[in-house]
Amino acid sequence: MSTDISTNFVIEKAPTSRIGDVDFDNLSFGTVFTDHMFECDYVNGEWQTPIIRPYQPIMVHPALKVFHYGQAVFEGMKAYKDDDGQVWMFRPDQNQVRINKSAKRLAMPEFPKEWFFEALNRLLSMDSEWIKKGEGNVVYIRPFIIATQNEILASPSNQYKFMIILSPVRSYFRGDVSVVIAEHYSRSADGGVGAAKAAGNYAGQFYPTNLAKEQGYQQVIWTDANTHQFLEEAGTMNVFFRINDALITAPISDRILDGVTRKSIIDIAQSEGVDVQVRKLTVTELVNAANDGSLKEIFGAGTAVVVSPVKSFSYNGVDYPIDQPEHTYSAHFKKRLTDIQYNRVEDPFGWRYKVDVEKFV
Ligand SMILES: *Cc1c(COP(=O)(O)O)cnc(C)c1O
Repeated sequence: MSTDISTNFVIEKAPTSRIGDVDFDNLSFGTVFTDHMFECDYVNGEWQTPIIRPYQPIMVHPALKVFHYGQAVFEGMKAYKDDDGQVWMFRPDQNQVRINKSAKRLAMPEFPKEWFFEALNRLLSMDSEWIKKGEGNVVYIRPFIIATQNEILASPSNQYKFMIILSPVRSYFRGDVSVVIAEHYSRSADGGVGAAKAAGNYAGQFYPTNLAKEQGYQQVIWTDANTHQFLEEAGTMNVFFRINDALITAPISDRILDGVTRKSIIDIAQSEGVDVQVRKLTVTELVNAANDGSLKEIFGAGTAVVVSPVKSFSYNGVDYPIDQPEHTYSAHFKKRLTDIQYNRVEDPFGWRYKVDVEKFV
């Protein structure tokens, strides 16, 4: 297998762009896709010729293994355009490592690092017009791998497809959310796939999340499957708690996804001298902090929303409103992160990654 793919990369350009049909001020998240997509198949133990082609449906057999046994992993990243029109990504090296970790856990082949970056750079360059300048405008990047063998025997697939699709989105302020602490259902278990960005982790959450929504809450904060006492994560976001001025988040484990936003907030907070505590936090401690007034904030952290403040949590049938201070950690860290992402400030951590658009157009 040649790893020099720049000479071995098929490009089929879309004859016309659909960009003129898109209302960029009224985008519904994840419903609009750019002109091109990246595709690479794994056959006979090797990744085949990578290809960029017009965004289009893929034809597959009903026996496709992913439909039956769920071998599917994905990533979520964003591309940003600064005021000078340069295109940036945020810590894509982390996503590259993570999709391969997820793939390995699901017995899927790893996708070569150089190919991952070549694909991202070429695709974003071809569709760079879709990335609009200005805070809140981004292209959401969705790399994923699915099992494509045409066979319903319950065993790992011998064929896979790696794809990257791009969706222009506008982030909007969705308002502070109310959450329920999980007391019965679980998202993941010791030794399971909770730390992988596996499609099935989401499927398993939809039903309990719907139950929470029927009660008027928007999200579930998952607890450990054994005791339901330790606060873990929000299922699409990692979660932070501020008790007095300490910023607390659960340690990563095989039940919790190692979020890039989470670890970036930890690094920023530590660099600012915040008392960051990466430790287990029990529901009892949280309830006590809510009762004695020391609980100042809860917020989720993830690529899609950056940070999502929580206005109240429910546990054991009781609602605990959170009286947030005027200057919140959540607003502060959101600003610190987005300033770096949109190239508005220095990047002391070396997190920004420049997409070399000129190279490919
Ligand atoms: C993607 C994801 C997150 C957030 O990770 P980021 O790298 O910050 O986007 C958190 N939890 C789960 C379960 C996820 O799938």
